[in-house]
Amino acid sequence: MRGDAMGFQRPPGTQDILPGSAGDWQLVEATARELCRRFNYREIRTPIFEATELFRRGVGETTDIVEKEMYTFEDRGGRSITLRPEGTAGVVRAYVENKLYGEPDPAKLYYIGPMFRYERAQAGRYRQFHQFGVEAIGSADPALDAEVIALGWMFYREIGLEGVRVEINSVGTPAVRAAFRGRLLEFLEPLKDRLCEDCRKRMERNPLRVLDCKVDQDKFGGAPSILDSLDGECREHFEAVQGHLQAMDIPFTINPRLVRGLDYYTHTAFEYKAEGIGAIDAIGGGGRYNGLVREIGGPDQPGVGLGIGLERTVLLLQKLRQDASRAALDVYLVSQGEAAERETVRLLHRLRQAGFKADRDYARRSMKAQLKAADRLKARYAAILGDDELSRGEIALKEMASGEQRTVRLEELVHHLTELDRSHPETRTE
Ligand code: AMP
Repeated sequence: MRGDAMGFQRPPGTQDILPGSAGDWQLVEATARELCRRFNYREIRTPIFEATELFRRGVGETTDIVEKEMYTFEDRGGRSITLRPEGTAGVVRAYVENKLYGEPDPAKLYYIGPMFRYERAQAGRYRQFHQFGVEAIGSADPALDAEVIALGWMFYREIGLEGVRVEINSVGTPAVRAAFRGRLLEFLEPLKDRLCEDCRKRMERNPLRVLDCKVDQDKFGGAPSILDSLDGECREHFEAVQGHLQAMDIPFTINPRLVRGLDYYTHTAFEYKAEGIGAIDAIGGGGRYNGLVREIGGPDQPGVGLGIGLERTVLLLQKLRQDASRAALDVYLVSQGEAAERETVRLLHRLRQAGFKADRDYARRSMKAQLKAADRLKARYAAILGDDELSRGEIALKEMASGEQRTVRLEELVHHLTELDRSHPETRTE
């Protein structure tokens, strides 16, 4: 932040969300709320700052977040305060403090709001960012893990992000992790001198996180897998979660190296990944945290939750739209039969007069080959005219991206496309 003659600038790592993208934020938030309604999660709003100790306990002393990313300050009353770096610790604190555990049913809660981490700013990484998160506290049922994973998966689908992958893992119980830690250190010790500085530090305090390192990834080919260290109960839980996901047709892959950046997870850990934001691929994640409520001073209640980064969601949404708008042609006219071909000359001219970028086949290819050409030329629509359609005074209009097809009166084609264009101005070709 500089206060010179140039005026003030926003602090590094923060964003102004301007009216031009506020609509995307509203869409993303409305989708989150609507999904939570269907899944029966209710909103909770907790303070954006809490006692520093809550995060030390809740997130974990050896995590990057607590070690180097928290916005911590002393308030005027001498208390150590921290701007929340994540949502779970505060929600669990509120759950305990307000005794939300009196029910036989799990407390199913959701939140949307800003989080703060002092990270190196880059594309998709901010110091103030927003998360949509859910927490289901009070049941150890693996069906609840699957429900939470499904909720996140549906969130991305409903926004229109179809390429999102789900990765899951089991990080076991603390006892399982302690045993695995020994095996892992045996494997890492001879590699130690070749590992990056962060990994060497992590080896001492949190060796499981070493496997997650992007820099050293290629050195871990022969690393032991935590899945081989799971005890019977952990294995059973993990298999049940997978069974439920399969029952819901949610595609997932098992990534035995997936460990989350927060210490409180037990059993299930999961992440949502997508391409398109620089080097970053994690867009959301979560897991089960059976020891956390007790750690924070509450009853021994198990829980599971997720956190989804909204900046990354909005970035992907905007990229998707940009890609769609990079259609090279508005309309490719596909025709078959002599009469239809003659009509094409007239239609094409009218489309161009109306301002559309349009083209057709001049090689008398088959209908199928013409449709292929429409695809190759990145046409947004193929307008398909055969002698049959022509005799009925109609033309078929196919949206290439979705494959959706509708029939339009011939004399309405230009008008119809103009209307479509008006309702989706973002998809117009350059
Ligand atoms: P985490 O629990 O740390 O994995 O965070 C969950 C999600 O929040 C991530 O997958 C990101 O989408 C988002 N997120 C975390 N840190 C940041 C950040 N510094 N800037 C933007 N988004 C973030």
